[in-house]
Amino acid sequence: MELTDSVSAIKGIGEKTQKLFGKLGINSVGELLTYYPARYDTFKDPGAIAELKPGEDGVICGLVSKVVEPRYASRIKVLTCIVTDPSGSIELVWFNQPYVKYELKSGYHFIFRGKVNLKGRKLQMEQAKVYKREEYYRLQTALQPVYRLTSGLTNNALRKAMQQALTITGDLPEYVPLKIRKKYEFLKKNHAVTEMHFPKSYETMVEARRSLVFEEFFLFMVFLREMALGREEQESVAKISDDGSCDDFIRKLPYSLTEDQAKVFEEVRKDMTSGRVMARLIQGDVGSGKTVIAELALLMTARSGYQGAIMAPTEVLAKQHYDSMSRDLKQYGINCVLLVGSQGAAEKKKIYRMIAAHEADVVIGTHTLFQEKLEFDNLALCITDEQHRFGVRQRENLSKKGIRPHILVMSATPIPRTLAMMMYGDMDISRITTMPAERLPVKNCVVGQSYRNTAYNFIKKQVDEGRQAYVICPMVDGEEDSELQNVTDYTESLKTFYGDSVSVEKLHGKMKAAEKNDIMERFKNGEIRVLVSTTVVEVGVNVPNATVMMVEDAERFGLAQLHQLRGRVGRGDKQSYCIFICGKESEEAMERLNILLKSNNGFDIANEDLKMRGPGDLFGIRQCGEMYFKLGDVFNDAEIMNSANEAVASLSDRELEETVQKMYDGGAKEVFQFFNNYVTI
Ligand code: ADP
Ligand code: MG
Repeated sequence: MELTDSVSAIKGIGEKTQKLFGKLGINSVGELLTYYPARYDTFKDPGAIAELKPGEDGVICGLVSKVVEPRYASRIKVLTCIVTDPSGSIELVWFNQPYVKYELKSGYHFIFRGKVNLKGRKLQMEQAKVYKREEYYRLQTALQPVYRLTSGLTNNALRKAMQQALTITGDLPEYVPLKIRKKYEFLKKNHAVTEMHFPKSYETMVEARRSLVFEEFFLFMVFLREMALGREEQESVAKISDDGSCDDFIRKLPYSLTEDQAKVFEEVRKDMTSGRVMARLIQGDVGSGKTVIAELALLMTARSGYQGAIMAPTEVLAKQHYDSMSRDLKQYGINCVLLVGSQGAAEKKKIYRMIAAHEADVVIGTHTLFQEKLEFDNLALCITDEQHRFGVRQRENLSKKGIRPHILVMSATPIPRTLAMMMYGDMDISRITTMPAERLPVKNCVVGQSYRNTAYNFIKKQVDEGRQAYVICPMVDGEEDSELQNVTDYTESLKTFYGDSVSVEKLHGKMKAAEKNDIMERFKNGEIRVLVSTTVVEVGVNVPNATVMMVEDAERFGLAQLHQLRGRVGRGDKQSYCIFICGKESEEAMERLNILLKSNNGFDIANEDLKMRGPGDLFGIRQCGEMYFKLGDVFNDAEIMNSANEAVASLSDRELEETVQKMYDGGAKEVFQFFNNYVTI
């Protein structure tokens, strides 16, 4: 039997069952074998009846007596019996399982496993499973796999199919070269897979899992290396050269580039002028100054006679980039245009025409840049800012608009290097780890609601000194029985609090784009002093004069998100402050928020946050949801991932080719599937 054969080739799997397997994503025998248990059940030693406690899952071994024939009690069929051991006796009860009576033989010993509940003043065991003693002891020697099921399919059916599949398939393909398997002492593939489904013990299962997780990561990384090789050869059609404008631009900046900024820009310049296609991710914490690098890359592109595009996740941010870039680049004869959803049809049409006619050199926009209708004359550079906000597919769409344009992705998401390699496997990675020098670290506090008025007065003082402030609330409107702060009501009460002395306005996602832009504009030019907002300002907004960030119900946000919010202040040379108000003052919430006080480093915070929350949140599900491995966990198995990484790096080109060939031959399809979702160019 082949791994690619349909599961219907297995005895006992008819058309109906085949459909049910299909629902679980199991179509082939190979897919069945890699459908690993979601967890394992364990069977503990039976205990004494006298020691049972209400609420627990109890296991007892006792003598059956007094089986009461099933009878109806308010439409439910109830079966009971008494079980006795040397320590005492207990009543067992089954609802709607009259057939259990055939298993209960009075005068015989059985093992019972079921939920213990208090019934009146007596304990009772409900819906117990009945085992013959030999059977139970046999089960006890191994872990019992529990699979994720779909209705109509039982755990047992899966086990049976698995058993069959394992006996009828021959040797499973080994993708990891022998020398590496030897080095790490991995199990043979057949052995490892068998062990996952029918583990002999916990220890052996863990060993098996280690082998398989390694293989999974290994294959993935082999593919990455292969792709990286392929990319070297991709010649760029765009002939980008640097005519000195970039150095001129850098000289005219009101600050000097940090060492990391300079280094990263050199990497970008080298990439773009190399004649090969650039694919580069710039990772740098909020406020590390990524924008200027994008601007330089756009400058170089436009000066070489090509078009460049930069895509931002929100209109507010796109507008902000447009304002600064069109101002900065004008002197180099570069024409920037803004393209966002809120523009009218006529205006958009005009901009489309300008882009197609190359009257626009740099296009700054949001997801509108994906419009089918949009045509460039010669797009040679695509930049996406704050990448984690975009789906991979969207990125892909944009790059399709050029002839293999250079790709630059900017992200503040602090992810470990090996993981970044996976998520952006097809890219080179640059990091900006240092902050502009004259920044004063933001001063933080985590406080309860009683501190609110003090905070308002503090903000007033800052405003009087010419500064500005953000106040963030988790909700837009007041919803019934929500205790959370909402932007709408909050703005009203803050206006009342300050009267005419401080101008307060609100900003949230439900407002019309034009309205949002207007508010943001007025906040930027200082007309609005306090901006009450939802997290729409979280990403990228740059108002260096703002020195206070106050977050209501701070415990409701992820730490990484709060760190992003904090990144909105501390952008100028004045001391900035961050006030996290805890709506629910539980010890746990305070402890979590206190992590923010201890560190100003996005990377450390994300790591701490992960420990407390699990990975899903940090990247936004959209990004991570597609990113799955059958067994491997990118966080908890980081060590295995690192060894897989080392192992792949140690392969010679020939070994790499052989492995890739084996993958194709063996149909390691999942990996390719994965890549189809992930490849960007
Ligand atoms: P981010 O990396 O979060 O996108 P920005 O590029 O928006 O950060 O930069 C944040 C602020 O820091 C901006 O006001 C920018 O002008 C300023 N800035 C950037 N580089 C430097 C530098 N080398 N020295 C001083 N200020 C800088
Ligand atoms: Mg930014």
